[in-house]
Amino acid sequence: AECLNFAMVFSVPNYACQRRTTLENHNAVLTDALSLLAENAELEDEDGRGVAFRRAAAVLKALPKPVTSLTQLRGLPCLGEHSLRVIQDVLETGSSSEAESTKQSERFKALKVLTGIFGVGPKTAAWWIRHGINTLHQLRASGHTLNRAQQAGLEHYDGVNRPVTKAEADAIGEIVETAVTSVLPGAQVTLTGGFRRGKLTGHDVDFLITHPEEGREEGLMPKVVSWLESQGFLLYQKTTRNSYLESKDGPARPASNMDRFERCFSIFKLDACGRQPALSQADEEPKPWRAVRVDLVVSPISQFAFALLGWTGSKLFERELRRWAGYEKTMSLSSHALYDNKQSRYLKATSEEEIFAHLGLEYVPPSERNA
Ligand code: ATP
Ligand code: MN
Ligand code: MN
Repeated sequence: AECLNFAMVFSVPNYACQRRTTLENHNAVLTDALSLLAENAELEDEDGRGVAFRRAAAVLKALPKPVTSLTQLRGLPCLGEHSLRVIQDVLETGSSSEAESTKQSERFKALKVLTGIFGVGPKTAAWWIRHGINTLHQLRASGHTLNRAQQAGLEHYDGVNRPVTKAEADAIGEIVETAVTSVLPGAQVTLTGGFRRGKLTGHDVDFLITHPEEGREEGLMPKVVSWLESQGFLLYQKTTRNSYLESKDGPARPASNMDRFERCFSIFKLDACGRQPALSQADEEPKPWRAVRVDLVVSPISQFAFALLGWTGSKLFERELRRWAGYEKTMSLSSHALYDNKQSRYLKATSEEEIFAHLGLEYVPPSERNA
């Protein structure tokens, strides 16, 4: 009976891809603080620090109970000195003073507002801030030249920054399905990204498109985009063609985690369809539609399982899968293929389950990849 008084000590495997991380989070106050510090590091273009905080947050997301004392965390992976200091602060005072002061800082606020513009990354935002631009108003007044993506991002700022609901994602899904099957009967559309992991809202909607006959998917994206455009569904789109075969990256090893599929980053115009349209400004007429960010990717069927795994996320789960493959298995994983560097050959797969098996990992379903 005495033992019941001892706080439980947790144990968590090293890599996020070895863990089952559902959306149920028993340590949201801790993970919110660490995620905010991760976001800040990313906004400051310090990705290494960002990943460290994201890994620490992911370990806490995987715990079956709330943490009540630091001693419970002894021996857990990925908890560096800095993250432990943040955790200690939250456990002792109820909040993280570093996260709170970051949230209040003018620089964080400005970086967040400016990178909220579709097409604006941390470097551009930092450059604008150095030139005295901290708000959308100042940006509009500055006369700085914006590229096409940024112009659309500024114009549809409110819509793009409002969370997308599952119902809206499903409505977009029907439109994409209609577009795809109109231009190529038999082609298949799969919802990926956060919604495939069971999230209730997202910052965008992600779709993967393929056709069961290899090669039939070639050139599909421009046709889908033309169809969508002709029906007035697109406020903005930028299509990039497939560059996988001509890439010089080597086996399954793109230079970054960017893959080389034919893809389209877009902003959809979604009709309100019964939904109460939100007022963006008090003096404005409510719009009968809203802007939604949508990502479309086309994959040949031979790479479909890899593309599905790569586009389902979470981003940290993906990063951990690639780290596991490289460090523990001497393999290279991308959204196109899995290459075994010891056997010097590609390992084929027609399902996500097969890829996990090749990697020597227990299968983790999408709803448990929320690291
Ligand atoms: P959210 O709800 O915020 O959209 P999400 O998990 O869907 O969350 P996304 O940014 O839409 O996040 O990314 C979905 C998946 O697509 C992630 O696993 C990510 O690794 C992958 N992905 C995103 N952009 C690219 C890209 N340019 N190249 C390759 N993969 C990408
Ligand atoms: Mn997404
Ligand atoms: Mn996306």
